[in-house]
Amino acid sequence: MSGFARHASALEALKTRGRLRVLSGRGGYDFASNDYLGLADSDLLRNAAMAAIQRGVPVGSGGSRLLRGNAEEHELLEAEAAAFFSSEAALFMGGGFVANTAIFSTLPMQGDLVLFDEWVHASAHEGMKLGRADTQAFAHNDVSDAAAKLEAWQGGRVWIAVESVYSMDGDIAPLKALAELAVKHDAVLVVDEAHATGAFGAGLAHGLPGDIVGLHTCGKGLGVHGALITADRVLIDTLIAKARSFIYATAPSPLNAALVRAALAELSQSDTLPKAHQALVAHAHAEAERCLGLTGFDSQIMPVIVGEDRPALDLAARMQAHGYDIRAIRPPTVPKGTSRLRIPITLNTPAEVITEMFETLAKEMAK
Ligand code: PMP
Repeated sequence: MSGFARHASALEALKTRGRLRVLSGRGGYDFASNDYLGLADSDLLRNAAMAAIQRGVPVGSGGSRLLRGNAEEHELLEAEAAAFFSSEAALFMGGGFVANTAIFSTLPMQGDLVLFDEWVHASAHEGMKLGRADTQAFAHNDVSDAAAKLEAWQGGRVWIAVESVYSMDGDIAPLKALAELAVKHDAVLVVDEAHATGAFGAGLAHGLPGDIVGLHTCGKGLGVHGALITADRVLIDTLIAKARSFIYATAPSPLNAALVRAALAELSQSDTLPKAHQALVAHAHAEAERCLGLTGFDSQIMPVIVGEDRPALDLAARMQAHGYDIRAIRPPTVPKGTSRLRIPITLNTPAEVITEMFETLAKEMAK
């Protein structure tokens, strides 16, 4: 280790500032995962895995999709995803992070502008850094700020980048107004549906007018892993031809594709899971108001803002000691002074446990 003294001291400095990120196990009731519909450890997907193995779906892809890695299961998934999300075409990628880097590094061209909500995910920023288009932020969820910036722009096509459900605050973007704005300016609306896909069926941008690029991650509501980009055929073909994180990467496991197909099949046959989830989320909102006086939650992601890092970490640790797996989120993931408990509601946790958790949280916060 002595050869890495600078790394060690950089880690030490993060630790002193209470900012060191480390891995920890999972224990207690799930108030931490993005497995919103409880599919990740479900019989539904376990049985789908066994059925796929039995019908001979390969476990590994063996290479890039552009070489021998392209499997039937990938193509079936993409056709089914295009139908489910009502897009012309779809592309399966290894994950949402790489999918966002592919979208933003490839689709907006030189002379274009990516006009992004100031809260978009780190992966969209990563893509923008790699891309050739200009970039500009607009104030979070502020349609008039976005409109003013669009009107002032004199260059090429504008790509408006937003999330439908924001990952750390759980608030929902004004997608209808943004889609109308995009149509008016012949802009493209790029919607990262990571936290909406599955939880809100085909997502919150489903059915909106205009040119829409969708990102549907498969590791959250769909319970598996990977991501589906939905867009017009010419944009999907552009990604296949040009996106480096697609071209130079081993294709995701065909088995993984088979599992995502099973999750989509379940959601296209029935809305039982999203409905049950919505009911549980409504219960959680009511309990947060009753126990903590907190209101204004839009979705299954419920932030409880604490403020400084240390008290947020301490509170999370005390809740963990009570058997609730709740995690604190700190800067730089969230703005300074807004360290928080990020409490997602999933079908892994029954209503009565949610009630007990909020009652316990109220007691702990009063200490
Ligand atoms: N976009 C958003 C909004 C996310 O929250 C995440 C996951 N944290 C991603 C993209 C990345 O997706 P994945 O985890 O599938 O790489």
